[in-house]
Amino acid sequence: MGKLISIVVPVYDEADGILEFLDDGLLPIIKNLKYDTEIILVDDGSEDKTLEKIKSSKLLNKTLVNVISLTRNFGKEVALTVGLEAANGDATIMIDADGQHPVEEIPKMISKWEDGADVVTAVNTGNTTKHKIRSKIYYKIMHVTGNKKVMPGAMDFRLLDRAVVDEFNQLTEHNRLTRGLIDWLGYKQEYIKVKTRGRKNGKPTYNTKKLAGLALDSMVSSSRTPLVFFGYLGAFITVFSLIFGLFILIEQYILGDPLNLDWSGAVAMSVFVSFLVGLVLVSQSITALYISQIHAEAKGRPLYVVNKKKSFVSKNGKK
Ligand code: UDP
Ligand code: MG
Repeated sequence: MGKLISIVVPVYDEADGILEFLDDGLLPIIKNLKYDTEIILVDDGSEDKTLEKIKSSKLLNKTLVNVISLTRNFGKEVALTVGLEAANGDATIMIDADGQHPVEEIPKMISKWEDGADVVTAVNTGNTTKHKIRSKIYYKIMHVTGNKKVMPGAMDFRLLDRAVVDEFNQLTEHNRLTRGLIDWLGYKQEYIKVKTRGRKNGKPTYNTKKLAGLALDSMVSSSRTPLVFFGYLGAFITVFSLIFGLFILIEQYILGDPLNLDWSGAVAMSVFVSFLVGLVLVSQSITALYISQIHAEAKGRPLYVVNKKKSFVSKNGKK
């Protein structure tokens, strides 16, 4: 039996561009592959005509297409997870539906996999200045907070070997950043450089605010550095104030103020107290971030809900 390649596509309100992506983008590529394919389209609660458009795609008659429709919008990270769980392939490729990820690089990814790579990640080379600055800042934060392995420009356009997908499917956390989790899994990673294109239709969903939130979330979910940092800062301030306090005590009260500094105890104390109160507040808010994540995980809800009424599989024919 030949090997199978799964292609996972998260789709949210892409009615304007989805047919172009499926029929003009994906179809010619998979036709020329020497492997069987299955396409997994995860409809992430689209409210426009996306699903109708998918039903009219030529792809449905050319290969197995598994359309999994979620009951509402769960977000791209969850949609990718749904797709990876459903994928049966010996290798699985994840790609955006908005045409930004160049489909023509898929054969190159596959040949890297054939050469032994377990994860093949597309790295963005061409982009706008704003985009570049934004992702620079994002990756800077990641590095400073101890997520050293994050590769700048790495995208969600990836190929994963069966073994990696199986491991990925074992991960249970709710607050998830797919590429972060894949990097965490390890395995042999290869990179290919690609140029992304502008989005042809619709709007991107990750604006600066969302990205900042994502950075904060993944920092808290994957790094102890903030906690450790405030621990060190707290220890430093305690030691410093202890020494300073002892100095005042000895200079003023034991030696009788030979330096004529005439410390007012109230001043010294109130400075320290307000400093410490500020410190406690900051460290408390950091701790709260961690607790809020524990809370989210502890609820133990399923990550997503599939709408059985809308989901379907097309079994029509091979290539
Ligand atoms: N997407 C999704 N759920 C969402 C938002 C986006 O499944 O809540 C899909 C979207 O249809 C596209 C991909 O994820 O296929 C990337 O989305 P987008 O272009 O908005 O993100 P960006 O390119 O800015 O990372
Ligand atoms: Mg996009």
